[in-house]
Amino acid sequence: MSEESIAPNVSRKLVAVVPGDDAAPEAVSASMSVLEAMDLPLEFDLLPPGSELAEMPETERENFVNERLDAADTVLFGSTNGTTPGIQHLRWGHKTYANVRPIRWRPGFRSPMANPEGLDYVIVRENLEDSYVGIMGDVDALRSSGLIGPRARIAWEGEGRFAAKIITRQGTEKVARFAFELAGKRAAKSGRSPRLTVSAKTNMLPATDRYFCDIVEEIGSDYPEVRLERFIVDDMAHRLVTRYDELDVLLLPNLYGDVLSDLGAGTVGGLGLAPSGCYGDSSAYFESAHGTAPDIVGQDRINPTATLLSAVMMLDHLGLDQAATRLDRAISEVYSIGRTLTVDQGGTATTDEFATAVRNLLN
Ligand code: ATP
Repeated sequence: MSEESIAPNVSRKLVAVVPGDDAAPEAVSASMSVLEAMDLPLEFDLLPPGSELAEMPETERENFVNERLDAADTVLFGSTNGTTPGIQHLRWGHKTYANVRPIRWRPGFRSPMANPEGLDYVIVRENLEDSYVGIMGDVDALRSSGLIGPRARIAWEGEGRFAAKIITRQGTEKVARFAFELAGKRAAKSGRSPRLTVSAKTNMLPATDRYFCDIVEEIGSDYPEVRLERFIVDDMAHRLVTRYDELDVLLLPNLYGDVLSDLGAGTVGGLGLAPSGCYGDSSAYFESAHGTAPDIVGQDRINPTATLLSAVMMLDHLGLDQAATRLDRAISEVYSIGRTLTVDQGGTATTDEFATAVRNLLN
């Protein structure tokens, strides 16, 4: 039993566990079997899966879930296809502005790269702004706005739609500080010098993307010890495949962060391996980077690694460092032994068999 689990004065934190939709509840249930075996100083509030929540009227369902999320100290969230509500509330309601997506290869991960050993960086994705602000409409609404430049005038004939991309100084400064701090923490652990890379489409989108990168550079003057590099985002996509060993913390606006983190997950071995945590000033939640994997629902073959590694991030966030290390090690060991891997990793193990292997290696 770890010191953390027996310390008498540690108050028990409440973790809301949201199973989510399609195949996500299978990954969450397997992950919970591991967490429950760890004798953690935590209480888990397990919400119903999306298939049960769907029986409630929409507003009632949303209030029901949001109240449980608000009552918890943190949240482990299975992916949603929209049936399970709560993500919007956790993200915009709780202002979790920094989405952290570690991209780290471990021996046994089925990477398509020839030399995956140097793959160990973290994407920090701005989580609230950019094209995700939900400002969309018919282009006719823009015609009288005075915002229409020559390129748009040439391209536009007939009907069309637009979606706005919003980058604010305040939002960018916050996520930039978060990323610089993270670069410092990672350097303190690894012994390497701190490094931050920022990327966006600065050449084509000066109003938003160059603005984002310029603000990050300004904030960088408060962190002179961190080496800051800046690349255009198409070059960045190429670098994620060819020069990933030069990365440590990569800061991106929302949409590029969403897309490039799936690319990064592909380089380590697939979506089933990619965890994620979303952090605000007073709230955080944790979920795999993948979606609900609807094509494999009910087959007991979803890989729960991404959910388990998200739980590792959650334990770290809750200050349960020893427990986080213990779980992280057990997961790594299952891969380095390589006998109980799920189908996406070239094995034949079911979701539950994988979780059992992790449980058996907790020490
Ligand atoms: P979303 O739009 O929510 O991202 P999606 O269906 O586009 O959903 P995913 O759910 O991430 O994307 O699935 C993409 C592919 O990756 C699917 O074939 C799915 O089965 C596979 N996949 C995703 N997560 C896992 C996992 N944990 N284990 C095994 N396969 C997975």
